[in-house]
Formats: sequence, C-alpha cells, structure tokens
Amino acid sequence: MNEVNKIKTSGTLRKPSWIRVKAPVSKGYNETRKLMRGLKLNTVCEEAACPNIGECWEKKHTTIMILGDTCTRACRFCNIKTGKGNPVDPDEPDNAAEVARVTGLNHIVITSVDRDDLEDGGADQFVKVIKAIRREAPDTTIEVLTPDFRNKRGALEKVVAAKPDVFNHNLETVPRLYTKIRPGARYFHSLRLLDRVKELDPSIFTKSGIMVGLGETPIEVLQVMDDMRSADVDFMTIGQYLQPTKKHVDVHEFIKPEHFVKYAKRAKSKGFLHVSSSPLTRSSHHAGDDFEQLKAARAKKLAKQKGTLKREDAPIDIAEMQKHNPLMNDE
Ligand code: SF4
Repeated sequence: MNEVNKIKTSGTLRKPSWIRVKAPVSKGYNETRKLMRGLKLNTVCEEAACPNIGECWEKKHTTIMILGDTCTRACRFCNIKTGKGNPVDPDEPDNAAEVARVTGLNHIVITSVDRDDLEDGGADQFVKVIKAIRREAPDTTIEVLTPDFRNKRGALEKVVAAKPDVFNHNLETVPRLYTKIRPGARYFHSLRLLDRVKELDPSIFTKSGIMVGLGETPIEVLQVMDDMRSADVDFMTIGQYLQPTKKHVDVHEFIKPEHFVKYAKRAKSKGFLHVSSSPLTRSSHHAGDDFEQLKAARAKKLAKQKGTLKREDAPIDIAEMQKHNPLMNDE
C-alpha cells in the first residue's frame, strides 16, 4: 500500500485503458434524458459530466440535483456551474417524486448544489422532496447527498428529522488538500456533520466518499478512513478523480485498479459495513444495490452482537466488486 501507481507526465495525463467508458447511446439513456427534460429536473449525472451516465441512465438510475443548476461555491474539482443561486422551484419536490413513481426505482438519490445564499442552505427543499417521494412512491428508499450546511444552524437537524434511509456527505479529499481542492469547505466540519447525523438518528445509514489521484498519499487515505470510522460512517466510497475541463485541477495520478482493491480491504478491516472502491466508483453509482448490501451487513452485525451468529471473518466481497469493475478480472 506504500507504493501507489503513478502514470505521471508533466501537464495533462492520458487516461489509462481502465478509465474508458462507452458513449451514452442506448434507448434507456434517451428515455431517461427525455423524462428529466420533461420534468425540468437537473441531474448531477449531466452537470458533473459523470463517466457512468451511459450505464446508469440505461437503467433509469439518475441522481437528481435539486435547488437549481448553479452552485454558490467553486470547488476546483467540480464541473457544476458556479454563481448566484437560482430561485427555488416550488414544483421540484413533486417532479422529483414523479421520477420515483414513473421509473419504479427501488432506491433514489437526491443531491443539490451548495446554496450558501439561502438561510437554511436548502434544507427545507430536501425535506419537501423526501416527503413528496414518500407520498408518491412509498416503496422507494431515499438517499440524500447533501452539502455541508456550513453556518446554517438547524439545517442538518431538519433533513435528518425527515428520515432519509441513507445520509451521504462526501469528504471528497484528504484534509491537507482542502485549501486547494475544496476551499469553501472545512474537513472537520464535514466530519462532524456525519458524526452528528448518527447522534441524531442512529438508524440512518451514513455514507461518505473521497476521490483519489489528487496528490494524496496512501497514509492520508488510511487516516481519512479512521476519521470516518470515528464518526461511525457506515459506507465509504473511493473513486478516481477525473478532470472535467482544462480549467479544473489536474489529475495528479491515475491509481491502478488493484490499489482500489487494497484500499477496499483496508477500509473493510476498519469496520465499514460496506465499501465501494474502484476507478469509476462515484457516490451514487449502484446506490440501490449498495443499499441492499448495507442493510444485510447491518443485520449480520446485529445478529453477531446478539450472539445468534457464529463469529466469522467478514471478507470483502471481491466477486461483487469484479461484477461492477470487470477490469479487475484482467489481473
Ligand atoms: S454514478 Fe451517479 S452521478 Fe454518475 S451517472 Fe450514475 S447516478 Fe448519475
């Protein structure tokens, strides 16, 4: 784990073969696109130029981005437009619920741009969206991927009280790189936010992720894992940073798939209920399947604690990781 692969050159790095993805051309992709346009909904899939869009949209999996398409922060890794926030759309909660109803998704992910301009940081809109989905699609489980609600007293508490099934907030990178990558945020504030979710409602699963390839060291990544565990985070995601445009921070290195497997093993050994770690892992990638695994892992852990199950190792599910990352089969 001390040695990380570096396909390093000066200037822009060439994408390695394991990063290539298929162009989004399927019928399902076009139907999803039409649905989102018709309901006037933004998605992080499009706005953040996610490499998995072809695969996810073919299956109608989208991550709806509420509160407009303009973010009031300017993180150096993110492709989302920055500037003054849009007016809050009163139809957005019903439209988001319509996606859950029409697609029949088992699990839906709702995120938002940062809204430092709003008094509650947009918490109220998150609550309205959760309530509308519960009303229109009661069988759909809900995952929120929220901003950090920095300086927004009471905002986090509001969202937690609406009882999403999964509360996700990404740490994004190691603390040393915050001023360069995420200048408007504070590492320990984000960590505390995750910790606070568990204090408020331990039944909610918590989730957080980082991008690698930004210049972090493996030791720093392991420290982030320990920090997340100290905040009782259940699920960690680790994916490769990809530079959306030349204006964004450069990729420092492309981490080889086998190193993602090593990270996953180390994270799992630290007690996360679930870990997703591969070059193309994104926090909402396969979120529905991951939610099922999270529930199963918690049930197993509880059974162990009650002594109803024989103690056994909790091996990392390599077969499951390979299913989602066939490149690992090449080794
Ligand atoms: S991984 Fe997430 S953001 Fe990317 S396309 Fe899939 S649902 Fe959208």
